[in-house]
Amino acid sequence: AIPTALMVASGRGARAGIFLKGHQALEATRDVDVVVFDKTGTVTHGVMRMVAVTAHGIEDSEALRLAGAVEAASEHAVAAAIAQAARRAGQVPEVEDFEALPGLGARGRVLGRDVLVGRPRLMSEEGRVPPAELAAELDRHARAGRTAVYLAVDESVVAVLAVADTVQDSAPAAIARLHRLGLRTVMLTGDNAFAARAVATEIGVTEVYADLLPQDKVTRITELQSAGHRVAMVGDGINDGAALATADLGLAIGAGTDVAIAAADMILVRADLDTVPAAIELAHATLRTIR
Ligand code: ADP
Ligand code: MG
Repeated sequence: AIPTALMVASGRGARAGIFLKGHQALEATRDVDVVVFDKTGTVTHGVMRMVAVTAHGIEDSEALRLAGAVEAASEHAVAAAIAQAARRAGQVPEVEDFEALPGLGARGRVLGRDVLVGRPRLMSEEGRVPPAELAAELDRHARAGRTAVYLAVDESVVAVLAVADTVQDSAPAAIARLHRLGLRTVMLTGDNAFAARAVATEIGVTEVYADLLPQDKVTRITELQSAGHRVAMVGDGINDGAALATADLGLAIGAGTDVAIAAADMILVRADLDTVPAAIELAHATLRTIR
């Protein structure tokens, strides 16, 4: 009866875009009581668009070109928005010595200059101090719920680039459905607290932790586990491999990166958050048939 039930579940799951990596995924689902979400690319579309570039000491167009050159080599959603805006504005130069700084930003050499793009924390770690005008500009964007990053060229912080994302249409209903199943929901993000709060409010999640590094997400999950919870983690994968692997149940959602697919227990191929409660309900229903 067990193999039959699993086969039926796999067939039903596949039609709904839910793929289980082995029967352990079903077992893990049984005791899950907290569902943790990554924000960018999971709760939001992860398709960001450029909102504004504000440069200080160089032309806005030059700032966009230099940032775009580095970001063209990065796979992050913030990077995609910046690279696309730069390409639309004109020719984007080549980047050399590109380096992704997971959860922080990216760097490289462009036209002989050292170009660094990323969150405020990256700038302080690298000893770059933004001028007051740019710090105020970044703060203004953050308070408006946008994701804003700095651009540093050589030793100076020269621009703020603001991007915005939209929440998946399916998110509020998916969260409500999880709550009806008796599950607690938590959002974890490396983005700023204002942007995080805006998204959380929109989708109905009350517990949110912002400004995290990828390893901080792992720590939050471990803390929940130490408190006796069984944790499911839903992520699109960019920077989330470790968190997906640490959770009792890892769910890779959407296009998913190879890292996410390798680390997850379930693959949800549709970038539709409703597949999260659907997968949990399917697992519960299947386990009931077996027992
Ligand atoms: P999230 O938890 O929202 O998925 P990440 O951990 O991937 O976010 O990234 C955290 C923050 O680091 C982003 O909000 C962004 O400010 C910054 N960041 C990460 N990668 C890049 C990049 N390639 N370029 C610019 N900023 C980046
Ligand atoms: Mg993400």
